[in-house]
Amino acid sequence: MTSDNRKPTTTDAGIPVASDEHSLSIGPDGPLLLHDHYLIEQMAMFNRERIPERQPHAKGGGAFGHFEVTDDVSQYTKAAVFQPGTKTETVIRFSTVAGERGSPDTWRDPRGFALKFYTSEGNYDMVGNNTPVFFVRDPMKFQHFIRSQKRRADNHLRDHDMQWDFWTLSPESSHQVTWLMGDRGIPKTWRHMNGYSSHTYMWANAQGEKFWVKYHFKTDQGVECLTQEEADRLAGEDGDYHTRDLYDAIERGDHPSWTLYMQIMPFKEAETYRFNPFDLTKVWPHGDYPLIKVGRLTLDRNPTDYHAEIEQAAFEPNNLVPGIGISPDKMLIGRVFSYADAHRHRLGVNYKQIPVNSPKVPVHSYSKDGAMRINNVSDPVYAPNSKGGPSADGERYPADSTWETSGDMVRAAYTLRQDDDDFGQANTMINKVMDEDARARLVSNVVGHLKGGVKEPVLSRAFEYWKNIDPEIGARIERGVKEG
Ligand code: NDP
Repeated sequence: MTSDNRKPTTTDAGIPVASDEHSLSIGPDGPLLLHDHYLIEQMAMFNRERIPERQPHAKGGGAFGHFEVTDDVSQYTKAAVFQPGTKTETVIRFSTVAGERGSPDTWRDPRGFALKFYTSEGNYDMVGNNTPVFFVRDPMKFQHFIRSQKRRADNHLRDHDMQWDFWTLSPESSHQVTWLMGDRGIPKTWRHMNGYSSHTYMWANAQGEKFWVKYHFKTDQGVECLTQEEADRLAGEDGDYHTRDLYDAIERGDHPSWTLYMQIMPFKEAETYRFNPFDLTKVWPHGDYPLIKVGRLTLDRNPTDYHAEIEQAAFEPNNLVPGIGISPDKMLIGRVFSYADAHRHRLGVNYKQIPVNSPKVPVHSYSKDGAMRINNVSDPVYAPNSKGGPSADGERYPADSTWETSGDMVRAAYTLRQDDDDFGQANTMINKVMDEDARARLVSNVVGHLKGGVKEPVLSRAFEYWKNIDPEIGARIERGVKEG
């Protein structure tokens, strides 16, 4: 201990150092010495502190907690995490999509709602959003969509003209854009918003029966939103408003919670449902598939090292446990590849050995070596082997989250069904969910956004886009832009 009882500073190798303040020099006024390895370690580590930020969802915050099953859904899934009474540790990360790591929390944007459940059958991740739908339905368009939301090549500025150019040429975006321009486009805090899987997943029960499901995490704090004016003011006053709110709430013991409900569609019904139930731009109306309660997610612990525990948290929709599978949603199939690929790039190939990403169950994989390997591997390093290495148990863990399919290989849009269109659910939201005050705020938000730099011919296309969603709202938006 030092004279005031503090631990002595060491280098990263644990070697005690002589000074926190003075470099090694020749005399107090002389030049510095290259062999001052402690100074060099300080500078070299500092230069390498930042890792690549996430491509989308760069700005965010998170916390730890647990998920507790309060109801019985064992008839739909055998997943251990969802069996009655089960309590599972979790980590969550909330985020905005388009901004960089320093961008304001209160910009209008969807929010990420990414969860990792440390289950008894390995890690289960649900990489959701605070919106039940998305802008595009084919992963080929995802990269282009995100670029249109980020920055131009020439002036390095975000550009509303670029955003509306993409949206108006992608009419499948209309439902998500209506949602985004409405009240829920800016949540009051992360505690006051819902989380949705958005995608359809598969659940399978112990008898091998399959279901299509959607997850709805409804906030127990109640949904609350910010107006454009409030959000603009906060963006200037406190760019980290949502990050601070979550951290402070948990610090003062005000633990936020969400109740998980499922929409569950019997497997066969997907074939004949009136629209494609795997299309990510659509919700399943509650009237057709009512919400079924599962349990409660509670957040009660803040990270102590944001970088180690939140910046390095790696969520990936391919982390699925027995009893949970994917669906024919093309966006989900794309994400099942791209998330893990992004983590290998950002964090290195052994990112699953970073404590926040490590499962709480033993790992018996055949992965080996690579940069920053921490866990030792042992022989045999191949399978099959006759040397006592791990052996897959297909009887206990069958590949049962599957569906039958056939057809020619094509590059084509989903086959259209009776109620498949691009604008119908956006119209329902405007006319059946919003009241007149909410519609007025929607019109005002869109007018303000279009007046922020959208030029012809994109501007005329934007008026048409809104008239396709709802003729009256489209006319109000056009009037607002031209007369305002
Ligand atoms: P419902 O009347 O049963 O559901 C409407 C839902 O809209 C509410 O339950 C609420 O979702 C959500 N909502 C309320 N205000 C807003 C808002 N300002 N912005 C976005 N969402 C809001 O009708 P349906 O299930 O038939 O759906 C009608 C429309 O509601 C859909 O076309 C869709 O646009 C929207 N919606 C539907 C959801 C669904 O999963 N069925 C989910 C969210 C929106 P919540 O209960 O999740 O808070």
